[in-house]
Amino acid sequence: MDLTRREFIWRSVLAGGVVTALPVCARPGEANASTFEPAYARLEEAGELEGRVEKAYEMLGSCRLCPRECGVNRLRGRRGVCRAPADVVVHNFAPHLGEEIPLTGRRGSGTIFFSNCNLRCVFCQNWPIAHEGRGEQVSDEVLAAVMLELQRVGCHNINLVTPTHVLPNILQATRLALHQGLRIPLVYNTGGYERPEMIRLLDGVVDIYLPDVKYMDGAEAARYSAGARDYPERATASVLEMHRQVGGLVTDADGIALRGLMIRHLVMPDRVAGTRAFVEWVARELPRDTYVNIMAQYRVDYLAFNHPRIARAIRPQEFLEAMDWAEEAGLTNLDERSLAQLQIHRRR
Ligand code: SF4
Repeated sequence: MDLTRREFIWRSVLAGGVVTALPVCARPGEANASTFEPAYARLEEAGELEGRVEKAYEMLGSCRLCPRECGVNRLRGRRGVCRAPADVVVHNFAPHLGEEIPLTGRRGSGTIFFSNCNLRCVFCQNWPIAHEGRGEQVSDEVLAAVMLELQRVGCHNINLVTPTHVLPNILQATRLALHQGLRIPLVYNTGGYERPEMIRLLDGVVDIYLPDVKYMDGAEAARYSAGARDYPERATASVLEMHRQVGGLVTDADGIALRGLMIRHLVMPDRVAGTRAFVEWVARELPRDTYVNIMAQYRVDYLAFNHPRIARAIRPQEFLEAMDWAEEAGLTNLDERSLAQLQIHRRR
C-alpha cells in the first residue's frame, strides 16, 4: 500500500516508531543542559499538575479558554469562534530551523502546529491551518507521543504553535509525556489573545513564553482580527503575567533558551500594529533587556487583499522607523536577526 509522507509520519508516531524523514540528526541524551529540569516536572513533583489538567478540561464544558468566552460545550461537539473541537487537531510537527536563534539552536525547535485559531486575522499566513482547520484529530496520548518524538530526534524544546484553544489537551499530553521521559522546555507560542486567568493556570507548567503583541489599538484589532477589540488589554495583561512567572530570557552555555519571555511584534503597513506604542509599553512596564523580536516579514495573504491599508508589503522605511523607536525607547535585547537586517538597510 502506498503511503504519503504525512500518513507515514502519523503512523510511525502512533506505532511508537521512528520519524526518520526529519532532517535533523538525533542526539539522544543531549536534549538539553544536563541539570535542566522543566517547570512541568517540578509541578508534577509538587502534586499540582493533575489538578491543572482537571481544571482546564472543566472549562471545555462551557468554553471560556480565551477572551472570546463563547460559552459553548465543546465536550458535546459544539464549536465557538475558533471552530475547534474538543479533541486536539494537529496540522504537522517537525524540527523548525526558522524560529528565533535561542529556540532553534543547531537541532531545531520542536514545533507542533495546532489547527484552528481564536484570533482569526484577515492577513493570516497559516490560513489553511488556522481558519480552515486542516489537520488530523488526535488523542492526548498521540499528542504526548508527538512531543516525545520531537525530543527523541534532538529538538531543543517543544514549541506549541497556536495553543490557546487546546490548553486542556496540552496539559494532559504534557503530563503523559513527562511520565514517559519528556524533559525539554515547553514553549507557549501564542498570538497573544489570551485571558490572563488562563495564563495563570499555566504558572509552573510553561518554561518559555513566546507571545505576539500584534496591536496596541483596539479599533485596528477589531478591524483585522474578527472584532477582537479588547486585544491590546488582554495581550499586554497576559504578557505581564507571563513575565511574572518566568522572568527574562535565560539560556544555557550554548545560547539555547531554557526559560523566560520572548516577545514578537510584526511590523504592519501604515503603522497598523502600533509599533511605537508597543516598544514604549515594553520599556515602561518590563525590564529594558526583555527579549523583543521586531519582525519585518509581513506579506499580503488570505483576505488582506481586500483591505487596502494592509494590501502591500511593508516598506524598508517602516521597518527602519520601528527599529529606531525600539532603540530610542531603550530596549537592549532586540532579536539578533532583526538587528542584522537593520544593519543591511542602514548600509544601503
Ligand atoms: S477557545 Fe474557542 S470556543 Fe473557547 S472561548 Fe476561545 S474561541 Fe470560544
